[in-house]
Amino acid sequence: MRSGADLELVHVTKRYGDTVAVRDVSHVFKGGSYVCLLGPSGCGKSTTLRMIAGHEDISDGSIVLEGQDVSYLPPARRGTAMMFQSYALFPHLSVRDNVAFSLRMKGIDRAERDRAAGEMLELVDMGTYAERLPAQLSGGQQQRVALARALVTKPRVLLLDEPLSALDPFLRVRVRAELKKLQRELGISFLHVTHGQDEALALADEIVVMNNAVIEQAGNPRDVFAAPRTEFVARFMGGHNVLSEGGVRYALRADDVRLGPTGRPAIVRTVEYQGAHVAVTAEMSGTEILALVPEATFFSDPKNPGDAVGLAWDEGRLHRLQA
Ligand code: ADP
Repeated sequence: MRSGADLELVHVTKRYGDTVAVRDVSHVFKGGSYVCLLGPSGCGKSTTLRMIAGHEDISDGSIVLEGQDVSYLPPARRGTAMMFQSYALFPHLSVRDNVAFSLRMKGIDRAERDRAAGEMLELVDMGTYAERLPAQLSGGQQQRVALARALVTKPRVLLLDEPLSALDPFLRVRVRAELKKLQRELGISFLHVTHGQDEALALADEIVVMNNAVIEQAGNPRDVFAAPRTEFVARFMGGHNVLSEGGVRYALRADDVRLGPTGRPAIVRTVEYQGAHVAVTAEMSGTEILALVPEATFFSDPKNPGDAVGLAWDEGRLHRLQA
């Protein structure tokens, strides 16, 4: 059993002139886990990843991998490897030579690097494509080659910057399942940057939510979704309402809101069919409330925009947010 290496950020800060892209962030990423760094555009995710990879200097603090301070090591000596959003394969090199490229740079002989590249291509199910040029592959296949190219260096932590964003929705779901499987098989840590909540919920052992250059909340997906600490996390994760009562803010899951003849009076504004659920928004004394109603329940007594309804929920389901 390989447990992988812990990766630790210790008071890490990154400044670009007057902009603070990452502010005094400390966190331990547990070895051998799939971690998603989640947050809106501009919150500092990519900068964090690039500092870990060594593609960006840190302004303050340190980065420790398996007990060793790697803050000032060049990227190739850190034990990390990065897979970029644009796969940037060399167009004139075969798939095999693309994967073997970093080994060639290290002076490893041809037979050995071809063997290692072949092994990685098998791992990502691309063994039969070794002779092809990148232009002769689909987007999904190119991405697997890029993955093999990153893994051939035997990193302890694989860094992935929005790896699924260039794929169509169908392929995205398939490739994300493959990434998860690969991470389990290899037993190393994957640190995956995304702005997609669904992606993070589906993949992560740990979700690290960033906002405004800091970590807003970290935890396993169910905890982050079911017990958001702040209004930002509740709104960003989606599927929640944020209510104010007596100066206190609460999150209320949309699937805990019931529509009925009784309850707090509201007017239906929108009705959206989503398959398993119907998303209904209703205005209740100036506040828009989202209810996710199971399909069968909704259609047993359908509602339309303009209808008067009652909104009800169990008080115990209100989750208090930090001020
Ligand atoms: P994210 O990946 O979450 O979208 P980034 O890490 O790319 O966010 O950016 C965080 C902040 O740092 C943003 O305000 C961005 O404009 C700024 N930033 C990122 N890279 C640079 C750079 N090379 N020069 C100046 N500012 C930058």
